[in-house]
Amino acid sequence: MAERKVALVTGGSRGIGRGICLELAKVGYSILVNYIENLGAAEETCRCIEELGVAAETCQADVAATADRDLLVAFTMERFGRIDLLVNNAGIAPAVRKDILETDEASFDRILYTNLRAPYFLTQRVAREMIELLEARAIESAAIVNVSSIRSFTTARNYGEYCISKTGLTMVTKLFAARLAEYGIRVYEVCPGLIETDMTSGETVRTYYDGKFATGLAPINRWGKPEEVGRAVAAIARGDFPYSTGMVLHIDGGFHLRQL
Ligand code: NAD
Repeated sequence: MAERKVALVTGGSRGIGRGICLELAKVGYSILVNYIENLGAAEETCRCIEELGVAAETCQADVAATADRDLLVAFTMERFGRIDLLVNNAGIAPAVRKDILETDEASFDRILYTNLRAPYFLTQRVAREMIELLEARAIESAAIVNVSSIRSFTTARNYGEYCISKTGLTMVTKLFAARLAEYGIRVYEVCPGLIETDMTSGETVRTYYDGKFATGLAPINRWGKPEEVGRAVAAIARGDFPYSTGMVLHIDGGFHLRQL
């Protein structure tokens, strides 16, 4: 069994996931970098992690598929023998942004399967593993982090299925936080604002949000960086919130504040 604590990060190959992996490596975690299709990006993330002096492994798995989730957990246990932290980061945006009067069922299902069903059932699967490890005293503590979005509480007429998926994820955090506390497993929601990644790099999206920043979107009025989300997850991983579970960490430049 690995001596260092181990984090399983879904969609860890790029964007916010990579930022999380690198900040976790800095606090001494070995990392399982899950990716779905871009092996090159996953390997580059591993290389950066290993430069920080900790072990990293890649595992290709579609978290939306039950068999792949089983494979992902089995692979992590086989390579490291433990999981101390699960980060449900993998997420997708609608391929085409359609007004909610036009949303099609295929897009709705695709988004809900990846952004909500997958983290729910991966949490369930990993939690069972963590409970066994804790009861065997193989690990001392465990935590689960769900990466939601300001879209969990902010409407968008052409982004409905994504908003619903993230609102659901907020409840996933609450449910498992309440359920798993008795085992010593803490569950948190990290709620990012607008972060510079591939998800927000399209010209139309970037121009739209740049226009919002130009008129003062958030108190800290700039794009966020993946490592700024990663640092929040690292604080959780370090155990900085021992008397908290179900907590939401807003990494959004203060976007969530109401102002009058
Ligand atoms: P991204 O598109 O750059 O990265 C998403 C990652 O998830 C990719 O590595 C992708 O391959 C992976 N992924 C997607 N579907 C998968 C699947 N079925 N199985 C395994 N991996 C899968 O996006 P990002 O901006 O880094 O987003 C990361 C998370 O943060 C997402 O959950 C997203 O909803 C959330 N988020 C992003 C922003 C933002 O502004 N970028 C804001 C709030 C929340």
